[in-house]
Amino acid sequence: LIKAEMFGQLTSGLEAAWSKLKGEEALTKENIVEPMRDIRRALLEADVSLPVVRRFVQAVSDRAVGVGLIRGVRPDQQMVKIVHDELVKLMGGEVSELVFAKSGPTVILLAGLQGVGKTTVCAKLANYLKKQCKSCILVAGDVQRPAAIDQLVILGEQVGVPVYTAGTEVKPSEIARQGLEEAKKKNIEVVIMDTAGRLQIDKAMMDELKEVKQVLNPAEVLLVVDAMTGQEAASLVTTFNLEIGITGAILTKLDGDSRGGAALSVKEVSGRPIKLVGRGERIEDLEPFYPDRMAGRILGMGDVLSFVEKAQEVMRQEDAEELQKKIMSAKFDFNDFLKQTRAVARMGSMTRVIGMIPGMGKVTPSQIREAEKSLKEMEAMIEAMTPEEREKPELLAESPERRKRVAQDSGKTEQQVSQLVAQLFQMRVRMKNLMGLMEGGSIPALSN
Ligand code: GDP
Repeated sequence: LIKAEMFGQLTSGLEAAWSKLKGEEALTKENIVEPMRDIRRALLEADVSLPVVRRFVQAVSDRAVGVGLIRGVRPDQQMVKIVHDELVKLMGGEVSELVFAKSGPTVILLAGLQGVGKTTVCAKLANYLKKQCKSCILVAGDVQRPAAIDQLVILGEQVGVPVYTAGTEVKPSEIARQGLEEAKKKNIEVVIMDTAGRLQIDKAMMDELKEVKQVLNPAEVLLVVDAMTGQEAASLVTTFNLEIGITGAILTKLDGDSRGGAALSVKEVSGRPIKLVGRGERIEDLEPFYPDRMAGRILGMGDVLSFVEKAQEVMRQEDAEELQKKIMSAKFDFNDFLKQTRAVARMGSMTRVIGMIPGMGKVTPSQIREAEKSLKEMEAMIEAMTPEEREKPELLAESPERRKRVAQDSGKTEQQVSQLVAQLFQMRVRMKNLMGLMEGGSIPALSN
């Protein structure tokens, strides 16, 4: 029962979904209804926040219906892979590395409610960075809880890093300033600032944090969140982010019987990634947050995932080889044409994302709309062709009657259909020339 160690309930909840797809031939709108209901229930029971569950289920359904089945892969296995990929996406995709200042000491400001493991994280983080050969200093800014200072001093000794303290009578922002001075004087690379938590979010805490942040100009403001808070976690991150502006979260106590909700919702709800996770009380128990490993753990089906990935790879290769063969023999037809243009269209939507990044907007929205419109028109015309016509475009080239029929059925003009047919033949020639050049030979004579 290894996979029951963490997120056990979520894992078994999802298993119900896979088992309902056993014996199916494909993923269809109808047969995913029940499994999607299982997935939804499992996520809600794991304390994933409702809007996140809704979006997630929608994304998985959209991808599952109409997905091309991979040869040799069963629909239930393919579903595992789709859910996995969407889980990874949900958690931010890539691992989010810590950011270091370009010059001067890097300041990492830690915030969080009382008892979440903030003071422990200070020591864990120092230990973690020390292993990366970075010198650290801990600054004791938790003036609410006198024991916190002693605790930090003891932890600092354990890790072997200096701890800057100024008692509980000094304002945290002043302690921060002094701690930073100390770091500069001693040429220490990273300042880790502990701050006071409260039992609940309150104004005094936020004001204190704002002041400290102002003084420190930190490279990272990390909110320490207890994974057991479940649903709460996501809204906590959101609130702290709105109030003080954070760069990420550290999720602690993932070794407990956390149900997983926090790990799954934080990024989607708050826009801030989980950067590190704590998995125990020992100093060593801190590690980067890897969305793909986390997804893998939740699903507990590593073997299925790698199997599907391999099968996908084989199919991509076969597809590419098939296409090459077709091009070489000038068999490139309207089915391939559609595949190609759709692949380009997918890149088109990426262009749109790139276009939203300031300073990178090269593609205008009207250009994108234009491209999308002409793709839709092309699709309509190709869909109006018979399978035979799609495979043998010559039929259309030779017969004005066929072109007329396609035009009528697709609601386009005959001229548009002629253009599309001409375009396909041009593409054949261009591709063949290109392949000829790539093979190192001269440009081959056209065969028709
Ligand atoms: P603070 O009030 O936020 O500074 O919290 P502390 O650092 O004092 O931690 C509160 C309690 O949680 C302590 O008993 C820690 O040992 C425990 N703790 C912290 N992180 C973890 C963790 O990742 N796993 C477990 N199991 N316990 C933790």
